[in-house]
Amino acid sequence: MNMFKLTGLLAKIKEADLPEAAELESVLSLESSDDLNTLFSFADLVRHEFCGEGIFLRGIIEFSNFCIRNCFYCGLNKNNLKIKRYRMKKDEILKSVELLAARNIKTVVLQSGDDSGIDVLWLRDIILEIKSKFDMAITLSVGERSFDDYKLWKDAGADRYLLKIETSDKALYESAHEGMSLDNRIRCLDDLKTLGYQVGSGNIVGLPGQTLKIIANDIIFFKERDLDMTGIGPFIPHGDSRFSNQDIGEALLTLKTIALTRIVTKNSHIPATTALGSLDKDYRMDGLGCGANVLMPNFTPQPYRKLYEIYPGKRCVDEPVGACNFCMDDMAKSLGRFIDYGIGDSLKVGRYV
Ligand code: SF4
Repeated sequence: MNMFKLTGLLAKIKEADLPEAAELESVLSLESSDDLNTLFSFADLVRHEFCGEGIFLRGIIEFSNFCIRNCFYCGLNKNNLKIKRYRMKKDEILKSVELLAARNIKTVVLQSGDDSGIDVLWLRDIILEIKSKFDMAITLSVGERSFDDYKLWKDAGADRYLLKIETSDKALYESAHEGMSLDNRIRCLDDLKTLGYQVGSGNIVGLPGQTLKIIANDIIFFKERDLDMTGIGPFIPHGDSRFSNQDIGEALLTLKTIALTRIVTKNSHIPATTALGSLDKDYRMDGLGCGANVLMPNFTPQPYRKLYEIYPGKRCVDEPVGACNFCMDDMAKSLGRFIDYGIGDSLKVGRYV
């Protein structure tokens, strides 16, 4: 596409209250290196305008790999009898949070499978203790729960919640998530927003049967819901899941989705995900160069880290806890940016003050 025409189209998409799916689809289908450079540079400028040069860190602790679900791509699916299951003890979690605080990181992401064995009061006590000891935001990512569970944790001090929808297409969602419904996923997102959480969601790029139109509709879904955080990662099927023989999602299409999501949503936090760093090469730098503004260092201690194998080839499973900080500092510097050690709340002005 002519550069001026493409820049005009991207500017139109950026200014639209709700962009048209066909226009997003046409951008997702771009292939020439000139077009891609134009797209990525435009997205980087939008990131600069709405998010600045800082890269926020979210320290992640994967505290349980039990799961009651059977997502057809995930290594933690309930039918995978090969993995050793674990649930970290309260003291172990708090020790990991301490390490994270010592690295000056101000957000902890407490993540697990959809683990019905997590006692709601046990997790509430952990939230209370973290909040009483550390100046830190807490993001929960523990799956689909009732309104009352979400409320209890919010009242205890949890700030944010991450629940990816994976795809906004009902049929595609149900073809990859046995016994689950997109409607309940959306009900959870609605509950979280009602309760005042900063809400993160996102999709997987490259799911079997996914089309560019579906991805375009995902981006419109992100815009409509005005998400505080949007996580976009490539499809990487685990060898012990139903989709083990399916092709891995393309890095380039994932980057195009990140870039367009930045242009459309403007100031949603967008991480350069660990999955993006776990393909044939580490594409996190590329992600940061086309719209992403968040990195997620892993603070899950061994031996658990190796057992949280959602997908194979996951980056940084052998590194010592905390090593990621230095690596991420280098990544930021090489892009002429910096690690922002602030708390990194939502950029949706006025919503949470
Ligand atoms: S993607 Fe999440 S809910 Fe699905 S099987 Fe894996 S850990 Fe469980």
